[in-house]
Amino acid sequence: MARADMAHTDNIDGPWFVDTRCIRCDVARHWAPGLIEMDDSGRSYLARQPESPDETAAMWRAAQACPTQSIGNLDIRRPPSPPFPFELTPGVLALGHNARSSFGAHSYLVERPDGNLMVDSPRYLRGLAERVDDLGGIRHVLLSHRDDVADADRWAERYGADVWIHVADADAAPYATVILDGDEPAAISSGTVAIPVPGHTEGSVVFHVDDQWLFTGDTLHWNQRRRQLDVFPEQTFHSWDELASSMDLLSTLRVEWVFAGHGSWHHIGTDLYAERLSSLGDDMRRIGRVGWGQRPRAAYDWY
Ligand code: SF4
Repeated sequence: MARADMAHTDNIDGPWFVDTRCIRCDVARHWAPGLIEMDDSGRSYLARQPESPDETAAMWRAAQACPTQSIGNLDIRRPPSPPFPFELTPGVLALGHNARSSFGAHSYLVERPDGNLMVDSPRYLRGLAERVDDLGGIRHVLLSHRDDVADADRWAERYGADVWIHVADADAAPYATVILDGDEPAAISSGTVAIPVPGHTEGSVVFHVDDQWLFTGDTLHWNQRRRQLDVFPEQTFHSWDELASSMDLLSTLRVEWVFAGHGSWHHIGTDLYAERLSSLGDDMRRIGRVGWGQRPRAAYDWY
């Protein structure tokens, strides 16, 4: 529950507020853009109170997604109805309830006729699980990399689901049942393929569904400020060069939507996706090696 006694001093007056336990994960600003803004230190504060039912619904989604539960309302403790799962496009639902252990990574439920997929993991909550039950449960838990496993073990146990992860990141999920190895794509179920994309971590994997949806973990995201698909230069834990090669590989895919772990999801369309990915790997090689904590500002205005 959000702490009114720790409210950010920049919050605008009114019932909604953000407290200072915020870990600067950016999740709330994806759900409530224009209402929640970032201060100079990266913490969120309430810039404007919601003024319409749609904006109020967006605030409840932000509040329920926030991994530190830093967003609250002085008058109403609970949302009038559960905001998650929330449909982003038919067949793909955001699960919200982002976990602090995964630094607020997004997770998704993908409805499939041969068994639903969970891509990365939200916090395990009984109420959310009951709503996932109503949607048919989960057949496969797909882990994009070591950082975003959160409560995957509890979700898998509830549904007897297989858990997929790459061997290079597998120590983060010792309960995994399917271990990807090497760099070859692997079929998961009808229309669904796991593609190893080392770079962010050695064991990073993206999941490509029906030649239209790409679940990217921390490999690729929609950068809202630049209005562009991007990698995370500062969070390249394994290899910048391998990440660039992974972009070459991703350029061969047909993709309409990108669903990221961090950063934002986005309907980019096949043409813009192809155009961006056709040069991203070369752009990265031109800039040169970038590693953890290094900003390539001199060569490229990435942020
Ligand atoms: S979602 Fe919560 S922790 Fe993350 S930036 Fe927003 S207020 Fe801070």
